[in-house]
Amino acid sequence: MPFDHLGIAVRSLKEAIPRWESALGQKAGSIEEVPGQGVRVRFLPAGPGSLEFLEPTRPDSPVGRFLERRGEGLHHVAFSVTDLRAQLQALEGRGIRLIDREPRRGARGHWVAFGHPESFGGVLTEFVQPGEDPP
Ligand code: ZN
Repeated sequence: MPFDHLGIAVRSLKEAIPRWESALGQKAGSIEEVPGQGVRVRFLPAGPGSLEFLEPTRPDSPVGRFLERRGEGLHHVAFSVTDLRAQLQALEGRGIRLIDREPRRGARGHWVAFGHPESFGGVLTEFVQPGEDPP
């Protein structure tokens, strides 16, 4: 299962992005809002994948609550899958706890679903099906 990206929670994209662009010598993509998750995101290419910076649009969004509890930092790891529905069924079949049992729209128009940290060593884990065609 190919690595896709790491999600990093930040209070302000405006403050965080220039530091990371300068550190990695890479330009971040444009700002995209994901209303369903209450975040604005920007992706920055990094090695075989990318970094996804997440800024909450409201304090009671999942990322807003994460920042309140734990501060800025690593939020999730994401893997790319070709068939998200099949992947979710396979995970459930192995007794793995999921946050999303149905794919939902994520950033970049892709379809995503999250696995619960309880089943992934304390790490929120995202599965991404690239492309805009519904899974
Ligand atoms: Zn992500």
